Amino acid sequence: MASAPATTFFPKHRHPPPPCRHFHNLRSSKSTTISCTSSPPIITTTTSGNNRQSIPSLLPFSAKYVPFNAVTDECYSLDDIIYRSRSGGLLDVQHDMEALKQFDGKYWRTLFDSRVGRTTWPYGSGVWSKKEWVLPEIDNDDIISAFEGNSNLFWAERYGKHHLGGMNDLWVKHCGISHTGSFKDLGMTVLVSQVNRLRKMNKPLVGVGCASTGDTSAALSAYCAAAGIPSIVFLPANKISMAQLVQPIANGAFVLSMDTDFDGCMKLIREITSELPIYLANSLNSLRLEGQKTAAIEILQQFDWEVPDWVIIPGGNLGNVYAFYKGFKMCQELGLVDRIPRLVCAQAANANPLYLHYKSGWENFSPVKATTTFASAIQIGDPVSIDRAVYALTNSDGIVEEATEEELLDAMAVADSTGMFVCPHTGVALVALMKLRERGVIGKNDRTVVVSTAHGLKFTQAKIDYHSKSIKEIASKFANPPVEVAAEYGAVMDVLKKHLKKVS
Ligand SMILES: *Cc1c(COP(=O)(O)O)cnc(C)c1O
Repeated sequence: MASAPATTFFPKHRHPPPPCRHFHNLRSSKSTTISCTSSPPIITTTTSGNNRQSIPSLLPFSAKYVPFNAVTDECYSLDDIIYRSRSGGLLDVQHDMEALKQFDGKYWRTLFDSRVGRTTWPYGSGVWSKKEWVLPEIDNDDIISAFEGNSNLFWAERYGKHHLGGMNDLWVKHCGISHTGSFKDLGMTVLVSQVNRLRKMNKPLVGVGCASTGDTSAALSAYCAAAGIPSIVFLPANKISMAQLVQPIANGAFVLSMDTDFDGCMKLIREITSELPIYLANSLNSLRLEGQKTAAIEILQQFDWEVPDWVIIPGGNLGNVYAFYKGFKMCQELGLVDRIPRLVCAQAANANPLYLHYKSGWENFSPVKATTTFASAIQIGDPVSIDRAVYALTNSDGIVEEATEEELLDAMAVADSTGMFVCPHTGVALVALMKLRERGVIGKNDRTVVVSTAHGLKFTQAKIDYHSKSIKEIASKFANPPVEVAAEYGAVMDVLKKHLKKVS
């Protein structure tokens, strides 16, 4: 078993970075018509004096939209405003892999490592440190970044050893320790930067809109506010908490509160964005996944490019399980690592269409009616990215697990008691891990990463309700309510002595 790496994010490699002036100088054509046929790398040989030198004439890095997992010539420039393929299917951002392959894995590893934590705009960001793999053609001046990414990979030593049968190589990737408190920042910096570029190109875009009750609207409003781009958020009236409302309000989004549910808001915003020049920021949008995938690359980087055995991701609309797959797969294809981890997607039992699909042997997918779950960001019965998720899981020998409300709340409480402060979605992922450990699928010494998707502070009400044992039909086995005691020396002494006897 490999020894555990340091939890700090500073790269161990201190070699000077390779010259990367190519990246700064390359600008490909900004026209919106592009050719779909990618040409092979051109290697020219020049002769200077007596020294014959092979100089690769660099293919510029580029990316385009193509229909997801389909054999077709159809493609679009990233500067086009388009969300679906001609047949109504999903799009995918496809990079010119031949251009990226002009450099070997070691080159990319060293380049990425050299940028971590630096202030050279915009490469200090965890997303933009991988710019050539994300949005290679955007001008650095057009990027809207809040230094997202670079989140802590926490060694969950106590949780693993004490609560998962002596697991000693368990890690929690705290993606929620981020600008707006969730991993949605990773994708939103990419989407808003691209919109910023489109507006500078005089494309007719008056703003960006989304229907969301939580993390997406928070991330969208923050990045748009930083860019000075109007944002429009559709929210169902009286169905969301103050905590969910406050971020877009504070960031100056135009918040429309309407008398319907989330699905009603979603339907409306899609109709409206097809009529008005408002860019649609929902997870249908494949640009966001390009940012989300950098979390996978960052995990490899934090392990000094050693590949973990398992990565567990909570899933709702299911774009992210694919984004992680894509990040790992690119690292394999470009020679940074030689394999990819097995992926586990974890769902709430109250919103488990992917789990049911997996259990049926991927036979027939049917959406479900999602019911209320504390893991509110994954309360989705008809996931937009179902095809992306099935692709990611079947190509990574993946597994799907589910968690009931009681299971996820208990897992959160136990994790918190070992020094974390996790959100309910992370609780769902921890339950998946526990079940796979119990069945012996995940071994004691397997290096395992649980992706924590939001900050626990966004979900304090769930924790308060749990610890005050006020949730119906939930026993709150691990509740730790405050003890009420009279403000008198004797009374305090009594309860303290009793407590100290218990913990010693
Ligand atoms: C969006 C989100 C997820 C799920 O991501 P999908 O791509 O929709 O599966 C999980 N947790 C949190 C906190 C989220 O905001």
